[in-house]
Amino acid sequence: MKRRSLFALPGLLLGAAKESSLRGKLLGGRKLRVGSRVVQLESDEPVGKVLDDERLSGSDFEVLGEVVGEGKFRILEIHTKPLYTYVNGERLGVSYWCDICYIRTYAPGKCWCCQEDTKLDPKDPNTPDRKP
Ligand SMILES: [Zn+2]
Repeated sequence: MKRRSLFALPGLLLGAAKESSLRGKLLGGRKLRVGSRVVQLESDEPVGKVLDDERLSGSDFEVLGEVVGEGKFRILEIHTKPLYTYVNGERLGVSYWCDICYIRTYAPGKCWCCQEDTKLDPKDPNTPDRKP
């Protein structure tokens, strides 16, 4: 996996590790409000679809990735599960669920199997990937 070098941005990085996380309020236009700052989020297309999901707009949101410039943060690719939302203080991975096919996906849209809309279904990243 290619990684760009990190630009030092005091106050933005939570750790000096190659990968960092950013937590704030998700805004429209693929932006995240972190304290008094607004950070522009860059991502691959599936991650972008999640950022555009109105159901997540305004939520307490966390992204994993790296700072790529002043006020810009590049989110990791969707298969690394870089998106989290906090529900009642619990950190849950953003995912989507089809009730008909019992298929979980990580970007919003139609179920690839039955073509119904999937529903937003954040889940504990440490639990097995299936419904009780
Ligand atoms: Zn389905």
